[in-house]
Amino acid sequence: MGFAKMNALTVWYEHKRISSDRKKDSFIVEDYTTGRRLGQLDFESFGSNLRNLSSFNAAAVGLVFYGMIHKQDIRFRGLVSKRLLENLEEFQAAWGKWRPAWSRIGLSADVEGSTDTIRETEDAICTFSGGVDATFSLWRHHFKKEGRHHKTIKSAVMVQGFDIAGGDETGMQAALRSARNMLDPLGIELYRVRTNLKDKWLPDWNMNFGAGCATVLHLFSHGHSFGIIGGDEPYDRLITPWGSNPITNHLLSSQVFKILYDGNGFSRTEKIERLVSWPEAVNNLRVCWEGNTPGKNCGSCEKCRRTKLNFLAVGIDQPGCFAEPIQAEDVRTIKISNHAVRTMYEEILEAAERRKISAPWVTEVRQLLQRSIRG
Ligand SMILES: [Zn+2]
Repeated sequence: MGFAKMNALTVWYEHKRISSDRKKDSFIVEDYTTGRRLGQLDFESFGSNLRNLSSFNAAAVGLVFYGMIHKQDIRFRGLVSKRLLENLEEFQAAWGKWRPAWSRIGLSADVEGSTDTIRETEDAICTFSGGVDATFSLWRHHFKKEGRHHKTIKSAVMVQGFDIAGGDETGMQAALRSARNMLDPLGIELYRVRTNLKDKWLPDWNMNFGAGCATVLHLFSHGHSFGIIGGDEPYDRLITPWGSNPITNHLLSSQVFKILYDGNGFSRTEKIERLVSWPEAVNNLRVCWEGNTPGKNCGSCEKCRRTKLNFLAVGIDQPGCFAEPIQAEDVRTIKISNHAVRTMYEEILEAAERRKISAPWVTEVRQLLQRSIRG
């Protein structure tokens, strides 16, 4: 697709080294015609071996939805992977069908080519929230479980500005502590990134969060061949459109840095069933994003209660990541907010029925699903 100068954005890169283990990368977004500055996409990174970015690949992944939603072509004033630009055309082809109000836009760069030397390694970095999906992917690859499809996870990255708010330092520190309890014994480096990507540039988060995760992974493409995103919807319960999915996530790859959407062959209950063999995971999982206990599991929000049910379905009534077990009556007040969440309760019920569990909570889940059909 061509570049329409009339209604377009230009993107510049700036970086600042704050200390040996802290840097800030910013992409400055301007109106192409007037040069007016619209804002900047910021990434503050913490960890060892931080390098300046050698390309605009992260910006291309991070801003494509913004351009589509605002119907503006984007010109990157530097290098973008030619293969990534090709992939983003197909990415837009899918999202243009799923969201007809969003335009397919032209993406171009001053230099379009190969952004890194090709590495023949299996080294990977994964997004790590501490939740079930990310932890399962980490477990599976690190311990070489479930088949031969294993990457070498060298690093993980936790994001401040997605489910943990950019300004929530207490929550971030608590989440980092839990994550380190899992990662440190395995020798996996944990990076931390604080960004305004979600708040300013990805307005439809349920549809945009896969691209958000891939953007952050691209910040670390220099030392890794793969960026792993833990899958949330299993293959038999895929919902389309959904922000992270096996149709478009891989289209956020460049030639040398592949985005791998991982673990969709397993339901949430099946993932938890496998994680119970890893006590650090059971004790440190962090699934909660709406409770009042920053960086920890509140135990009472919908997702906390649902995760307790996942554990019950595999016979664990008090996992270490929650202070209190769930009671059958706690199920009665659960509100199912959307179809994606509903499918997760269907899956829990099926898992319980398969194991012939007939405890009162199973009846409550069955009734919860019946109520939610009636709406
Ligand atoms: Zn909670």
